[in-house]
Amino acid sequence: MPVQTIADVDLSQKDVLVRVDFNVPLESGKIADNSRIRAALPTIEYLIRRAAKVILLSHLGRPKAQKNLKYSLRPAAQELSQLLGRPVLFLEDCLGDDVQKTIAEMGPGSVVMLENLRFYAEEEANDREFAKKLAAYGNAYVNDAFGTAHRAHASTAGVPGLLPIKVAGFLMQKELEFLGNRTANPERPFTVILGGAKVSDKIGVIDALLDKCDNMLIGGAMAYTFHLAQRKKVGNSLVEKDRVSDAQAALQKAEKRGVKIFLPADSIATDALDFEARTIGAAKTVSEDIPDGWQGVDIGPKTIEIFGDIIKKSKTIFWNGPMGIFEISACSKGTFAVAKAVAQSSGISIVGGGDSITAINKSGFSDQISFMSTGGGASLEFLEGKEMPGVAALMVKSDKH
Ligand code: AMP
Repeated sequence: MPVQTIADVDLSQKDVLVRVDFNVPLESGKIADNSRIRAALPTIEYLIRRAAKVILLSHLGRPKAQKNLKYSLRPAAQELSQLLGRPVLFLEDCLGDDVQKTIAEMGPGSVVMLENLRFYAEEEANDREFAKKLAAYGNAYVNDAFGTAHRAHASTAGVPGLLPIKVAGFLMQKELEFLGNRTANPERPFTVILGGAKVSDKIGVIDALLDKCDNMLIGGAMAYTFHLAQRKKVGNSLVEKDRVSDAQAALQKAEKRGVKIFLPADSIATDALDFEARTIGAAKTVSEDIPDGWQGVDIGPKTIEIFGDIIKKSKTIFWNGPMGIFEISACSKGTFAVAKAVAQSSGISIVGGGDSITAINKSGFSDQISFMSTGGGASLEFLEGKEMPGVAALMVKSDKH
């Protein structure tokens, strides 16, 4: 059901709690990729223009309910301030009298960021008292954190239940539009590209998307579990033997529904791999069967060509997961070739998942992608058709008053 967005309600002069997803990757205390912060700017800027008081809530990493400054949101607040070109007040806690007083004294159009909500166990436990304390800071709620909307936490499910106005931000709206409407009623042909390590993580989404797509291109290690299901040789490749029956069921479903599943016609294989050192031993291109003692680490040149051709002819594309161990440059060609093909296609392109987004960003083609989903696990759960507590907590369009 379509939810109301910040454009549907009057938030001017309101004190607005905005749940953002500033769970950004940090390297030596510095933000390695600010995409998630940039993605929230339209909502924050819109609220500033309406002279709302903007109170930002987020989590960062997994601090395990401890105040661990390694997971402080201070760098995110500083980055946001730079991007907005205006001050963002950072508060060293998300609870307490000082926090309450500071927020109460803030003027219209000002922005404050509270410290990591997950410093408190109550956040993930969706504790009612904790939610009440947060809700008391404002009189309206905006959820722009699609990446955590699949979790029923205090800031995603508890707080909105306590406030009269609860709507989606622009980013959340975009996520729901692209992952919802555009894949439910896609322009055809609709091609889904899946990669990554595990079939087990993606079997739900494979099953759900087989009901919607015309082609499914499977790369990464998960392709070799499918190859096992087809009784091909996989050598030492990373496979999940206990998922072969799932792969078999997916292949059968695809056949029944007339969906074409494409697996690697060839692979790059190596006889040694040191992930930490980012090196591999000897490398060669092998056919569908991978010899003993060798492991598939990337899709091969023929597969790049086949996948590229299908991508080019597609009107809607959804991509999640790398085609190989793309962190090692010798195994990254397939992933970057797919990134380029997806970017250059004239169809609607939707990319989800951290690795695929990193690959797109590194390839320099990110501006040619129709939509990059910020929520990895959340995108997959949403595509599977699971209810998202953070979305269910918002007002639906027919609720309009
Ligand atoms: P996922 O989180 O399931 O999307 O998996 C992402 C990970 O899959 C990346 O870290 C890749 O290095 C890894 N991966 C992709 N292809 C392979 C492969 N052929 N063998 C081992 N790992 C792979």
